[in-house]
Amino acid sequence: MSIAVISTGTELLKGTTLNTNLAFLGRELNSIGLAIRLALTAGDHERDLYAAYSEALDCADTLIVSGGLGPTRDDITLDATARFFGLELAPHPELVEKVTNFWGLRHRGRVPKPVLRQARAPEGATLLPNPNGSATGYRIDTIYGGRARRIYLLPGPPREFEPMVRAALLEDLAAGPECREHEFTVGFLAAGEPEFQLQVRLESALSSFPVELAYCATPAGTRVFVSGSDPDRVHEAAELARAFAGPTPLPCGELALPGSILAELERRKWHLVTAESCTGGMISAELTAIPGSSKSYRGGAVVYSNELKHQLLGVPQEIFSSFGAVSAECATAMVDGAAEKFGAECAVAVTGIAGPASDDTKKPVGLVYIGVRAGEKRIVQEFHFTGDRHSVRERSCGSALLLLYRLLHEDEVDSAAAAGR
Ligand code: AMP
Ligand code: MG
Repeated sequence: MSIAVISTGTELLKGTTLNTNLAFLGRELNSIGLAIRLALTAGDHERDLYAAYSEALDCADTLIVSGGLGPTRDDITLDATARFFGLELAPHPELVEKVTNFWGLRHRGRVPKPVLRQARAPEGATLLPNPNGSATGYRIDTIYGGRARRIYLLPGPPREFEPMVRAALLEDLAAGPECREHEFTVGFLAAGEPEFQLQVRLESALSSFPVELAYCATPAGTRVFVSGSDPDRVHEAAELARAFAGPTPLPCGELALPGSILAELERRKWHLVTAESCTGGMISAELTAIPGSSKSYRGGAVVYSNELKHQLLGVPQEIFSSFGAVSAECATAMVDGAAEKFGAECAVAVTGIAGPASDDTKKPVGLVYIGVRAGEKRIVQEFHFTGDRHSVRERSCGSALLLLYRLLHEDEVDSAAAAGR
């Protein structure tokens, strides 16, 4: 089976709505060993959906189409699909009842005619129930280009789409007798490694494995994905890739630093606090996005001004006058102050110039000092990031988390180095 996804909606092309359905679907399919071969996005015009169908049917026998099943004029998926495949569209008694009841529960009076458009079904289609909305999903089994094809039509709103994928689609796809082309993927974060460097090393190390490698750069390092049809070989290859992936890669299956850091803190029964200047709370936001983070993350302070660095963290005034707020001395005082005043074994502090303008010391934009403490250990490092304000802040945040992760796992790095890795 090869799968193509067509997301419909002009809003997805204009960038006003993010195509989260595609990302959700990619993750869910991967969890049952299936992969999307091609994904297309079509605006709300019949000709665009036709173009997407033609393209997708060239390489896929299973299509998953999201969006455009509602009652408004731009909801064209049902009509365009029926026309494209030459299927009759007719009111379906079960759907007429459902749409009428759904309307009755929310509004008064008779169902408007356009709303009843949602009560139609293409001939021979299987209905896929939607507990969260008035539009129904459809599974259409048809022949196109002399081959059997299966087309799933699902409504666009994620709160309808996501449960329908879980309830109706995954099981259906996994159970399909024609489901042969399985693909499994295991990913990990190669912390702080540039992607090209990594590719050169991993590709020669894994050349004898029946797997494909993919790379995705993030502010904290490169995500490496190992895919193949045999799950045991994929896991074996991913473990080998990890061993070649430079210092402190995250364990297989872990793609982001905050979760891994919090898990390690919880294991040690340690606590973490933060003191952020130029990142303005980004580190805190990343940590608190993880459910259960309160077990280890105590909180922190956004100390943008020198006054607050002094008042909340006890950074001495002389540091500002002698070295400036963007200095190794200030980062050191901030990380020590946070650990002591907020009471935690671990602390992270960031101070830097995100730009676009420098401060009155005329230090260069992108200069950032990060201080990290973990138990008895402390490091303070100077960074020179390039890019705009957003990128300097993102990379500061990623680098701060990476430094903390490294400090927490330093002993493992030392023993790996001793073992000759
Ligand atoms: P539709 O079913 O096309 O009328 O879409 C209804 C709502 O779902 C709109 O608010 C869309 O922006 C949203 N939506 C549609 N497709 C997607 C998608 N692929 N990802 C996220 N939201 C979507
Ligand atoms: Mg739409």
